[in-house]
Amino acid sequence: MQLTYDIIVIGAGHAGCEAAVAAARLGSQVLLVTMDLSKVAAMSCNPAVGGVAKGQIVREIDAMGGQMGIITDRSTIQFRMLNRSKGAAMWSPRAQCDKTQFSALWRHTLETTPNLFLWQDNVVDLLVGRNTDGDSSYAAGLTSEKEGSFGVKTALGVEFRARAVILTAGTFLGGLIHVGRSQVEGGRAGESSSKGLTNKFVDLGFEVGRMKTGTPARLDGRTINFDKLSRQDGDADPSKFSFSPQTQPVTEQLPCFIANTSLAVHETLRTGFADSPLFNGTIRGVGPRYCPSIEDKLRTFADKDSHQLFLEPEGITTTEYYLNGFSSSLPWRVQMAALSQIEGLENVHLFRPGYAIEYDYFPPTQLLHTLETRLVPGLYFAGQINGTTGYEEAAAQGLMAGINAHIALQGDKPFVLRRDEAYIGVLIDDLVTKGVDEPYRMFTSRAEYRILLRQDNADLRLTPKGREIGLVDDKRWGFFEQKKSRVESLKSFVHSLSVAPEDLQDYLISHNSTPLTQGRKLDFVLSRNEISLLDLAGLSPEDTPFLTALAEFIAKHGITTEEIEQVEIEIKYRGYIEREKLIAEKLHRLEEVTIPDGFDFTSLSSLTTEARQKLSRLRPTTIGHASRIPGVSPADINVLLVYFGR
Ligand SMILES: Cc1cc2nc3c(=O)[nH]c(=O)nc-3n(C[C@H](O)[C@H](O)[C@H](O)COP(=O)(O)OP(=O)(O)OC[C@H]3O[C@@H](n4cnc5c(N)ncnc54)[C@H](O)[C@@H]3O)c2cc1C
Repeated sequence: MQLTYDIIVIGAGHAGCEAAVAAARLGSQVLLVTMDLSKVAAMSCNPAVGGVAKGQIVREIDAMGGQMGIITDRSTIQFRMLNRSKGAAMWSPRAQCDKTQFSALWRHTLETTPNLFLWQDNVVDLLVGRNTDGDSSYAAGLTSEKEGSFGVKTALGVEFRARAVILTAGTFLGGLIHVGRSQVEGGRAGESSSKGLTNKFVDLGFEVGRMKTGTPARLDGRTINFDKLSRQDGDADPSKFSFSPQTQPVTEQLPCFIANTSLAVHETLRTGFADSPLFNGTIRGVGPRYCPSIEDKLRTFADKDSHQLFLEPEGITTTEYYLNGFSSSLPWRVQMAALSQIEGLENVHLFRPGYAIEYDYFPPTQLLHTLETRLVPGLYFAGQINGTTGYEEAAAQGLMAGINAHIALQGDKPFVLRRDEAYIGVLIDDLVTKGVDEPYRMFTSRAEYRILLRQDNADLRLTPKGREIGLVDDKRWGFFEQKKSRVESLKSFVHSLSVAPEDLQDYLISHNSTPLTQGRKLDFVLSRNEISLLDLAGLSPEDTPFLTALAEFIAKHGITTEEIEQVEIEIKYRGYIEREKLIAEKLHRLEEVTIPDGFDFTSLSSLTTEARQKLSRLRPTTIGHASRIPGVSPADINVLLVYFGR
């Protein structure tokens, strides 16, 4: 049994799994220690991946060679591209997943990844062998650099060593579950919490906070009258997450269902308010405003007579349904009574009631952009412990922490994504620059370069980076290059193909588009909103020589629907794309002006007091980073620019 590794990852949730697989694939010897190996990548809450902005994150993880997209595709039971009626920047893939299969596929991935070792146990202590001043005094038991700078002790008394540690403990640190006035220690329903570990980090000097989140009841499908509910099907022509040809879109989909609460349901729920840990002061942690419990919704929207609920299947081999929109920590009898007043749920049985959970997190301003902690070099934090919520946000951080932990051990340059390169860049920059005051989830509105950061082009943005790091293998790289060349060739073709006025006369009129008065190139016509390349490609080619040429080109080069859509988006949004690129380029210059580590901001008397305090606390590494810190004004940035000779 090997006791010494390059990297130890604590926790096999969404963050830990991506971190461990990435670092191991890159060549580090990795040990993943987790409390229960039968619960790897468990979906603690809804059985779905993606959604608005989160879907873009999954595409980015996939584009860089991460695993979440592939596993999602292989466990999808319903797929929808959200926001198709809005602009392309808003299109967001979302998949309902078979929860059990999702976890089983992750377990299989972990077990088949070379260099990756697994150990089921509870980590109870972390020994740090290198102190923050850089001298080589080692904690008890850690005697030489060769043996590793960290010691990870488990409840079974095993002590592992490593040169880097990634902590991804999710909602388990000091986890406390609430259902009405009942409280039970736990990291998730039915699982014990991680006790005492938080204090080890406090002793090391870390700041700690408390947050809360909640989950709804799970229903027994055999007791639901689906005939009384409206049905929501997946896309007729489903797509998928992974850019890799290893996965295919789902072929057999399961429906979701929609139910509605009523005034009577609300009345019943209100009878439990006095026992609600949210309202009687029992819960002190801050919860996510945008994902409120049903009791919160009744208070905030007191005048609403009804709230919509979505019944989402948890898998193919189970009758369990997740009741999206009904998150609650009211007493279980109150939840039960209220549910039985909902049309279609009159005879419902619960598999489990909704609950809230409070847990410890570490304010993420204590991290560098690599997710390495500032206090302890070689120690990384990723996932929910950084104050985020969501599987996708956790997985993205895990991937970045795993990559950075590996490359730091090789002495290579940190791998950081900019805000104009990826939602993952926005996520991490927001966390380390602004911190969090409630569980952080990604929204498209958090990104200033939305039109650059689309789900369709995540591979163009990030696969070359994944290749450079070493996570994108030859097969996937070859496939990417072929796709890129097909997209480029279609773009040039559309740019050079002439359309005569008579070619599209009827089509343009039928689409309320002004007829052409002279010959034009096809990309001119496609810049009109009402004209679609996909549509034109689907018209009968015999109609005109122009349509024949288009159809022949697409068939000859094997161009896919997704590739046609991508070309179309780039043509339609050309102006916006160029503008965002220009703004981003201007701001890069600020990123290039570095601030030396340990710089004394208090020595610059021309900075405002607030800026001096914030800069000293958050210690930005570049002027670009400083410019995004709330409370640091453009005038303060000018002071820094002048000081650093720019
Ligand atoms: C009740 C509840 C409701 C939620 N609601 C939502 C929601 O509505 N929307 C949403 O987007 N997200 C929600 N989430 C959050 C979502 O589940 C998490 O964001 C996501 O799972 C975080 O991933 P993670 O990898 O950081 O941690 P987790 O998935 O929590 O995984 C942590 C892992 O670490 C292991 N671990 C912890 N401590 C130790 C230790 N000391 N030793 C060994 N192993 C350890 C655990 O066993 C677990 O495997 C909810 C979570 C819970 C619990």
